[in-house]
Amino acid sequence: MVPASFEVVDKRQDTADVWTLELAADSGEPFEFQPGQFTMLAAGGAGEVPISISGDPDRPERLVHTVKAVGLATEAICAAQPGQMLSVRGPFGRPWPVDEAEGANVVIAAGGIGLPPLRPVILRLLAQRERYRRLLLLYSGRSPDELLFTDELDDWSRRGFDVLVTVDAAGEEWDGHVGVVTKLVRHAKLEAGEVLVMSCGPELMMRFLVSALTAQGIGSDSVYISMERNMQCGIGRCGHCQLGPTLVCRDGPVYRWPEVSPWLTIREL
Ligand SMILES: Cc1cc2nc3c(=O)[nH]c(=O)nc-3n(C[C@H](O)[C@H](O)[C@H](O)COP(=O)(O)OP(=O)(O)OC[C@H]3O[C@@H](n4cnc5c(N)ncnc54)[C@H](O)[C@@H]3O)c2cc1C
Repeated sequence: MVPASFEVVDKRQDTADVWTLELAADSGEPFEFQPGQFTMLAAGGAGEVPISISGDPDRPERLVHTVKAVGLATEAICAAQPGQMLSVRGPFGRPWPVDEAEGANVVIAAGGIGLPPLRPVILRLLAQRERYRRLLLLYSGRSPDELLFTDELDDWSRRGFDVLVTVDAAGEEWDGHVGVVTKLVRHAKLEAGEVLVMSCGPELMMRFLVSALTAQGIGSDSVYISMERNMQCGIGRCGHCQLGPTLVCRDGPVYRWPEVSPWLTIREL
C-alpha cells in the first residue's frame, strides 16, 4: 500500500489530450512488471488512479504510462513536468496470457486509449517472435489524429505484425480503412487453427469484436479482454471495482471473455 516516489524523466504529447510519461524510481531500482499490469498513480494531491503500464517489459529501468486527461487526477498526471515527482503503487493485476499464446496465431485488437495497455504485450511478442505464428494488430480510433503510437506502427509491421488500422471518420487525406473494428476482422482473413485474441477498448467495441470473431469460427473462450472499473485500493480490499463475483484489481484487469461477458450487459455494473 505504501507508494514509491518516481521522477518524470521524459514526456511526450501523443494527441490533443493524451500524453506519455517516462518515470524513473527515486530508489534507482528497476520496475519489473508483466504486460497487462497497471499501477496506482498520483500527481500531487489530485487523487490516485489506475493506469496501465505502456512501456517495454524488457526495459524495467523506465516506467512508462500513456494517459488520457479526462478528469482531475488524469489532468494532474498529464500536466506533470520533467523533474516532478509522482507517487506509484504496484504493479498490480493479472497480466496478458503471453505464455498461453505460444504456438498460436495472436490477434491484438485495440480501440483508442486501449492500445497503451497492449503495447507491452506487442513488444514482448516481437522480442520473442519465433514463439508465435501469425501476429496481427487490429487498431481502431475515432479519427486519424486520435491514433496513438503512429510512429511505431511501421516498425511493428516490419518486425512481424500485420497491422490493420481503421477510423470511425476521416477527411480526404486518410487513405486507410473507415469503419468499425468488425470490418478489420473480415479483412484480416484469419486462418483456421489456434487463435488467441487480446483486446482492450470500449466495451461496445469488444462486444462487436467477439461477435465478428465468432462469425469466423473463433470461440469466445479464445478472447481475453482488459476491463476498466473505478478503483481505490488496487489490492482487492475496498471492493470499489467489483464486477459480478470478481474484483477487477485482483482478479483482472485481464479476463477471458466468458468470465465477464454475463456482467457486461447489465447497465451501470
Ligand atoms: C486497470 C485500469 C487501467 C487503466 N489504464 C489506463 C491507461 O493506461 N491510460 C488512461 O488514460 N486511463 C487508464 N485507465 C482509466 C483511468 O483510470 C481513468 O481515466 C481515471 O481513473 C479517471 O480519473 P480522473 O480523476 O482523471 O477522472 P474522473 O473525474 O474520475 O472521471 C472522468 C470521467 O472518466 C470516467 N472514469 C473514471 N474512472 C474510470 C475508469 N476506471 N474506467 C472508466 N471510466 C472511468 C468517469 O465516469 C468520468 O466520466 C485505466 C483504468 C483501469 C481500471
